[in-house]
Amino acid sequence: MKPRSLVLVTVDCLRADHVGFLGYSKPVTPFLDSLAERSAVFADAIVAGAPTYFSFPAILASRYPLAFGRDIMGIAPHEPTITNALKDAGYRTGAFLAGNPYLSSRFGYDQGFDTFHDFLDAMPDGQASPSGNTPESAFNRFVQASASHNSLTAATYEELYFWYCRWRSVTKPLSMDALRRYPAADVVVDQACSWVGGLAGKPFFLWLHLMDPHHPYYPPEDASSALKSKVSARRANFLNSFWNRGHIPVRRLKRYRDEVISLYDAGIYWVDKQISRLVSTLRQSQLWDDLVFAVTADHGEEFLEHGARYHSPNSLTEQLIHVPLLLYAPTLTRQHRVPTPFSLLHLAPTLLNAISLPAPTDFQGRSFWPQIVTGEVPSEPVVVECVEACTNPFRRADRMRARLMAVRDQSCKLVINFREKTERLYDLKNDPAENFPLPPGDASAERARLLRVAREHLQRTSQNQTTELRLRSRLRELQHSSELRAAVQ
Ligand SMILES: [Zn+2]
Repeated sequence: MKPRSLVLVTVDCLRADHVGFLGYSKPVTPFLDSLAERSAVFADAIVAGAPTYFSFPAILASRYPLAFGRDIMGIAPHEPTITNALKDAGYRTGAFLAGNPYLSSRFGYDQGFDTFHDFLDAMPDGQASPSGNTPESAFNRFVQASASHNSLTAATYEELYFWYCRWRSVTKPLSMDALRRYPAADVVVDQACSWVGGLAGKPFFLWLHLMDPHHPYYPPEDASSALKSKVSARRANFLNSFWNRGHIPVRRLKRYRDEVISLYDAGIYWVDKQISRLVSTLRQSQLWDDLVFAVTADHGEEFLEHGARYHSPNSLTEQLIHVPLLLYAPTLTRQHRVPTPFSLLHLAPTLLNAISLPAPTDFQGRSFWPQIVTGEVPSEPVVVECVEACTNPFRRADRMRARLMAVRDQSCKLVINFREKTERLYDLKNDPAENFPLPPGDASAERARLLRVAREHLQRTSQNQTTELRLRSRLRELQHSSELRAAVQ
């Protein structure tokens, strides 16, 4: 039998409840919705960690993000991954990633790829902070430092400086394309299409990572127009700047929430449109009927549901951990809906199984492909973990903060905060918005069941910590730091 190729599209920040095939009311994903008619559609796909740097070890290496210790980031040198498995099986491998610095060779994501294009060299240099509030002079820095001693003066300084920056920018010409921080999906898909064109019939693994729904939100104008939510570049710049402000009350941010979400949705629409173009190219090249095609996300995005914006690992809310997952295979003739929780830890072995290849024995997840086909995916609790408030994984001190963990099944979710030494149990059936943790004495059987899963997960992690891979990762990091020091000196 001819080997099947594999395409994996990961979309940064794409929430499960913002795609049509999982019930979103706005028409942002018309192409994926049509593809979903003949795909396995996972109603409850859950990431193994969030954000990007805690999510991808599970997606590519089927390994929990903190399995080698909290301080280890990325894919360890020579760690078994889906890419290496396919390369060893004779596949051509190509990755086109829209400029996410955490998915770079520094963190081992290039391993096993013949072609690895992360667009990081094309990223605009010296970007101002998204707020546009970067002090422009020593005088500003002095005033800011003086004001920061007191919360009232700090807030007053921030308010004045924000509006000063807005006033200063009024005369500057702005365009969405110039303001966008990451390559748009069309740029990434163009490169992927030309790579596919040169494969000469060999089986291949193509990984695309698209950043259009990532903040700052500057969708192509065509996308906003198609959704009838067109705004000027100046308005989008104002919205992004305001949305990024620190230390202002949520009620003030809420005024702009709908407009910001419209920009985010337009980014999703653009992703959908470009995925459609990629599939057309694959069809025209007579490759479509011999491949498995998967679309998912590394985490979601928050829009003040719990007071937060973006996707920092300060919590593990549903908005952050519940993502879309769609798996198209030519053997599926109708939609196969998977209603049970499915951890992305199992994605890589499932994809390998779908193209009839064995998974590396070191993978922590396992294939559910046969159960997906027969509609009998068992309901098991899934584990999500990250390091709380680790917003800059380049800093070791950030990575060594306390663990945050969630155990989630179809009806309940237990969130364990190791810093606070607390656990919160949510009844997702009656409180899907996670507003009311159950009182400590309630639902003790559920609590005990999920706590047991958490304990077993931690025991397995400490027993299986692979010293060899951990040490290789530490060496890589030290090498990077010494190269950095040498470059600075
Ligand atoms: Zn991400």
